[in-house]
Amino acid sequence: MRFALTLLAVYAVFFLISSFFDADAPETISYTQFTTQVNAGNVKEVYATGYSVEGVLKQPATDPDDNRAYTKFVTEIPVFASDEQLYQSLVGKGVQIVAESPTQGRGLFWNLVLSLLPVLLLVGLWVWIMRRGASLMGGGGLAGLGKSKAAKPVEAGKVRVNFDDVAGIDEVEAELVEIVDYLKDPAKYRRLGAKLPKGILLAGPPGTGKTLLARAVAGEANVPFFSASASEFIEMIVGVGASRVRDLFEEARKVAPSIIFIDEIDAIGRARGGASGIGGHDEREQTLNQILTEMDGFSGAEGVIVIGATNRPEVLDPALLRPGRFDRTVVVSPPDAKGRAEILKVHTRGVPLDADVSLEQLAKTSPGMTGADLANLVNEAALLAAKRGKEKVSMADFADALEKLQLGAARSIVMPEEERRRTAYHEAGHALLGMLQPGADPVRKISIIPRGRALGVTLSTPDTDRYNYDYDYLRGRIIGALGGMAAEEVVYGVITTGSESDLEQVTMIARGMVGRWGMSEKIGPLTILPSEGQPQAAPATLAAVDDEVRRIVDECYEQAVRLLKENRERLDAIVEALLEHETLDEEAAYAAAGLPRKTE
Ligand code: ADP
Ligand code: ZN
Repeated sequence: MRFALTLLAVYAVFFLISSFFDADAPETISYTQFTTQVNAGNVKEVYATGYSVEGVLKQPATDPDDNRAYTKFVTEIPVFASDEQLYQSLVGKGVQIVAESPTQGRGLFWNLVLSLLPVLLLVGLWVWIMRRGASLMGGGGLAGLGKSKAAKPVEAGKVRVNFDDVAGIDEVEAELVEIVDYLKDPAKYRRLGAKLPKGILLAGPPGTGKTLLARAVAGEANVPFFSASASEFIEMIVGVGASRVRDLFEEARKVAPSIIFIDEIDAIGRARGGASGIGGHDEREQTLNQILTEMDGFSGAEGVIVIGATNRPEVLDPALLRPGRFDRTVVVSPPDAKGRAEILKVHTRGVPLDADVSLEQLAKTSPGMTGADLANLVNEAALLAAKRGKEKVSMADFADALEKLQLGAARSIVMPEEERRRTAYHEAGHALLGMLQPGADPVRKISIIPRGRALGVTLSTPDTDRYNYDYDYLRGRIIGALGGMAAEEVVYGVITTGSESDLEQVTMIARGMVGRWGMSEKIGPLTILPSEGQPQAAPATLAAVDDEVRRIVDECYEQAVRLLKENRERLDAIVEALLEHETLDEEAAYAAAGLPRKTE
């Protein structure tokens, strides 16, 4: 679209310029009119080519044919008019006869330029787009004209990262040690005829350190690191992506041993025929084919290793995963508590910490956070400490930074007292039910400070990282999520719109239990509601699934209401504490409820 608009603009400019020059174009006049002007002595100079005569008048005259005033003219001399006679009368009237066209003031050069202008502009535009596309990859130059500039490696010795910078994912590191050894001394492997993988796929959620790992492999082996993002290739014009891939591999081969890192490889490596990603279909296919061709072309002895990264390994084209291509997949998972503590250690290396800071404690309260999240947490805490004018970062800074990251930044609006109280009941309902459910995640924080769209928040996170959930746990989660709405009903007897996202969560869990995780006896262990795509079942079965979902949620809601009624004093106590303090941490929350903090 932008391209089309630019094209239009180019043409508009061209027409403007040429019509500007055209205003000065000579008038075509009759031979009679011409001789009249000659005889009147009004012709200054003429220039003749064959039977065509161009000239300039001394004074403007009006063409009787169309009443237009002119000073420059062209005319045709009839064959029967005598040259000799014309020549004589021209000389007699003192008309200058010149050797260069007097009407074509802009001259041959400018005529040429003008006629070529649109073409030149278009070519310029094209080159500009190419350069832009190419520079995305860190290169530059006239890509697509066949002479694109080299992809730039990260120089050895510059911005080096090594395994010391990667923490908490030791098993993944171990899988890559062999690659590092190979890159350090490919000859050793070559002599023994050992074949190493040409391509390694790092699969894992965003922020788990895939890019960091690839860089660290290059850093450990001290080899050049070429990096590109697959989406960059397909944003280019058709044909450029493939040629960039060719260049990338060529450059990497020149300085081998080396590493090529291709991020977001699913953007081009998506199974054909699936939902298309960004960019044209053809471009993706061409780029993918080029990568496959390059990898097939390796003998394996060059010492170029391609590392691909994706967070959606399941959508990849199987062609990418065949032997000789990305035939080794290394799964990179979010770190566990111990891993998180180690990652925090790495990122606090340059940060002055107060004596009260316990990274282990922080790691425990941040389940689910990735390496990138933790790096961000450290930075936020340091920013806070700086803002507070402190010399060192304390545990309180970390706690506040964690709260901001987990709950969202506080919004400063003044809530009417009535609204505050209702919000307090809503959150206290969530929290109390979470505290009462055996096996539920401990309540970490309750707050009635508005953040984002939410008026309040209750945060519960597990002590240890959970990978599997059982029926009772999920039921407990539903009861806890319904706690806000149930409390409003118990206390006020009405239901507000404030429970929308709670209900979304409830629905998601209940549907998962029935249609995905085989937790309903009536439906049985069938995948009826796959995590992606359409439900797969007969209408009668779907209706039965709905009934089961409804039954589970109804039972949970009844239990939520009953529990809150039975524990009304605890509910009220939490509300009073919340109204006073606005935010309760774990200890304060359990204390207000008069309940012991569960230990599993
Ligand atoms: P991905 O490529 O998986 O999306 P990145 O490698 O870009 O993730 O990680 C982003 C940042 O998060 C890294 O630059 C690093 O600061 C931090 N990080 C992620 N994982 C780790 C880890 N295991 N150890 C240390 N830092 C990490
Ligand atoms: Zn709620």
